Amino acid sequence: MNINSEIWNSPRDYLLARAPDHPVHFFAPAALQAQAKRFLDGFNGLVTYAVKANPEPAVLTNLLAAGITTFDVASPNEIRLLRALAPQATLHYNNPVRSKSEIRFANRAGVTSFSVDSLRELAKIQEIIPPDGVEISVRIKLPVSGAVYDFGTKFGAIPENAIELLRRVKSAGYISSITFHPGTQCEDPQAWVAYIFGAATVARAANVTIKRLNVGGGFPARTAKGAPDLEQFFALIDKAVTAAFTTRPALVCEPGRALVAESFTHATRVKSVNDNGDVYLNDGIYGGLSEFPVLDVQRIFTVLPPLGEQRNTAKIPTRVFGPTCDSLDVLPNKLLLPNDITDDDYIIFQNMGAYVKGVTTDFNGYGQLETVTVLSL
Ligand SMILES: *Cc1c(COP(=O)(O)O)cnc(C)c1O
Repeated sequence: MNINSEIWNSPRDYLLARAPDHPVHFFAPAALQAQAKRFLDGFNGLVTYAVKANPEPAVLTNLLAAGITTFDVASPNEIRLLRALAPQATLHYNNPVRSKSEIRFANRAGVTSFSVDSLRELAKIQEIIPPDGVEISVRIKLPVSGAVYDFGTKFGAIPENAIELLRRVKSAGYISSITFHPGTQCEDPQAWVAYIFGAATVARAANVTIKRLNVGGGFPARTAKGAPDLEQFFALIDKAVTAAFTTRPALVCEPGRALVAESFTHATRVKSVNDNGDVYLNDGIYGGLSEFPVLDVQRIFTVLPPLGEQRNTAKIPTRVFGPTCDSLDVLPNKLLLPNDITDDDYIIFQNMGAYVKGVTTDFNGYGQLETVTVLSL
């Protein structure tokens, strides 16, 4: 953790004292460590963190401090980041598509666990990395719904191809495993159950006893609909693995969003309200709100006017634009905002730890994202 940075009591204290004109990402390390412990206590297997969800060093070091030892990385830069922060950490390279030079880089960096979803990618790894002690997980995809944003359209082998791939992984001498990812913000735990039975069917058809089953990320974070019961997800997963496999594989999960989302809020500021009552914020879809157009969930937010002021309780559905001159830079759904919201008010979005840092661009000169550490959110 960056122990040289000032720690504030709350986002409110900071915003009222400093009146920042740029977006601020507020981080509560204690909330992150508590959520990590929830996964470590509740999930019957190895809990790894998908770095892309939030690669902020303070996040990674707090996860390490809470007991997370293993990280899912997807690129040489993520490998470098982890090797610099925690040379002893175990890395899983579970982006199933890599260039040969990326494979060489990972091999030199000591990565010994990879996923593949095609014969060509397996052949590339075989050319570069000998099988001893190296795990290759076959990434499967099934027509399973439940996620707000499905990943299966890009990665994963359909069962028929996965069977052949798993046989080849095994005959090449690699440690054979299976992985899947039900898609992000997956609110239906039955998606995991379907995938687990699908994975068992593939393993049986290939006649391969798999060492590990990686049940992916995709666990949901809290939204306006409520907080997901993660312990129920963990229990269903555990039960399904026992029921589906005769020889139980060790379990791995690789949450991103569900680990990190609830330990950050994201403060944006009203730049202007136009004559139609539309609001222009200092952040939008090219910055911290980039998920709004692709992830259709209702966010929890609060409005904070400058000190001493109050806004009406009467609210109206309001169109909200981002700061850039691009007409795409608008939130897809109207927000219910006080009817007298005005310049310099803040809108603080909750549960925003995932897919803000790392996704924010400097398009049109915006994107000055500051992270501020707070005791509580
Ligand atoms: C993005 C990703 C994750 C994390 O997904 P979340 O929905 O944030 O939990 C896990 N595994 C892989 C392979 C990913 O690409």
